[in-house]
Amino acid sequence: MSEATLTDDIDLLRSQVSEVILPGEPAYDAARATWNLSVDQHPAVVVVTRSPEEVSAAVRFAELKNLGVAVQATGHGTKLPADNALLLITAMRGVRVDPETHTAWVGAGTKWKAVLEEAQKHGLAPLLGSSSDVGAVGFTLGGGMGWLARKYGLACDSVLSFEMVDITGRIMQLSPGSNPALFWAMRGGGGAGLGVVTSMEIQLYPVSTVYAGNLLYPPEMAHEVMARWAEWVQDVPEELTSAVVIMNFPPLPIVPPELQGKSFVMVRGCYCGDVGRGEELIDSWRAWRRPLMDFFHDMPFVQSDMISQDPVDPIPVGITGAWMREITHEAIDAIIRYTLPQGGPPTLLFAEIRHAGGAISRVGADEAAFSHRHHPFSLEMVGIIPTPEAHEHFLEHTEGLRAEIAPCLPGDVYINFLEGEEARRRTPSAFSNESYQRLKRLKAAMDPENTFRYGLDIPPLI
Ligand SMILES: Cc1cc2nc3c(=O)[nH]c(=O)nc-3n(C[C@H](O)[C@H](O)[C@H](O)COP(=O)(O)OP(=O)(O)OC[C@H]3O[C@@H](n4cnc5c(N)ncnc54)[C@H](O)[C@@H]3O)c2cc1C
Repeated sequence: MSEATLTDDIDLLRSQVSEVILPGEPAYDAARATWNLSVDQHPAVVVVTRSPEEVSAAVRFAELKNLGVAVQATGHGTKLPADNALLLITAMRGVRVDPETHTAWVGAGTKWKAVLEEAQKHGLAPLLGSSSDVGAVGFTLGGGMGWLARKYGLACDSVLSFEMVDITGRIMQLSPGSNPALFWAMRGGGGAGLGVVTSMEIQLYPVSTVYAGNLLYPPEMAHEVMARWAEWVQDVPEELTSAVVIMNFPPLPIVPPELQGKSFVMVRGCYCGDVGRGEELIDSWRAWRRPLMDFFHDMPFVQSDMISQDPVDPIPVGITGAWMREITHEAIDAIIRYTLPQGGPPTLLFAEIRHAGGAISRVGADEAAFSHRHHPFSLEMVGIIPTPEAHEHFLEHTEGLRAEIAPCLPGDVYINFLEGEEARRRTPSAFSNESYQRLKRLKAAMDPENTFRYGLDIPPLI
């Protein structure tokens, strides 16, 4: 598309939406930025939308100009860069909590932090993940597995309704009683390229104080800690969602001095029932082997970011993962070898195995597009990738690890723990075959030209 053609109707668009930013304009670089700094995208135009009507105008403009539409809230989970596309920024930020019905309305673009803080004023909690800096809607569209997951399920399972703008600019309500097929698709279909979600209504849960944190053991104990954790979680209550992590703290000033440049094996988690019972569960670890550092304590759930302490400032990060059906001693050895430094700087920042199951596994395939709910463990591998070469090395390294632990991997992936091109390549493995075909049929009906083609790879069924 030539500049002249694009700018023909730009004044009309400017009169309909909050902000339109073109290449060369002073705000362009900030507007095209993503939280994950490994993405460098050059959209034809950036449109900041503050209402469903503005989204509708932006989508109609893209159709008129034959531009693809890429949707972004924070850029924590970018798949394809929005090169030459209309980059639609969702800035419909806002939260309304209803303490009577234990529900919240959340505008698209709102980060979990705002929802968490508002809900906690009423002793309620949303199903956010390890970082409250992530966009609530984007997280939920991909499933959404957080520290309350085993007790209350995935975030996508707690959605009561979505509002969505389709490719024609129509504003639609999605719920079990209204457009149920699209409602099904949006619950874990990663947005599925079916439209732009403008808000959602979600269920909240009565969680105020939790027993949560981390136990840090030395890296030499990695095998026995991981093996004990895999055994221990077999019969822990659903109030406990936990993980075992091999962490290589970078030698950076943002890391506390006592941790800088050091590696640990960590048991982390959150118990959302009676605090005393949570303490008893963690006491069993303290009695087994005294940790080097013990950061488990009772805390207001509003501080749940303390559990993972994910970075908030933008960084170039590689994220990949896989569902695991079991954890064998051979798999533990391989994960340790691929994660702990082997004489040079480590490729991975951390490898984390989260315990799934519980309420996650009790939702039927007809209720949500999210698949593979029966797997007990989710492996996530994260690395810092400041250059394309580092990204390439990260992908090769993690592929090598996956190959070594193949007997434990069913071949299925969790889409929120993948980024970039790899997320698109592995999209079919995120869904059961039946659900993937169903999503492709919906795509054919809703967006046959694949205008929303920058998220997951769900092409229209021909
Ligand atoms: C530090 C960190 C911690 C994380 N912790 C967890 C965790 O604990 N559990 C977990 O499950 N995931 C976790 N994630 C993954 C995260 O949930 C995904 O990256 C998620 O997609 C981010 O959503 P976003 O809207 O912030 O990002 P964006 O990059 O803006 O969007 C992500 C994807 O969702 C689509 N999308 C976003 N908004 C809309 C919309 N309104 N309509 C249609 N499509 C939309 C985008 O097109 C894009 O494909 C984490 C990621 C990071 C970087």
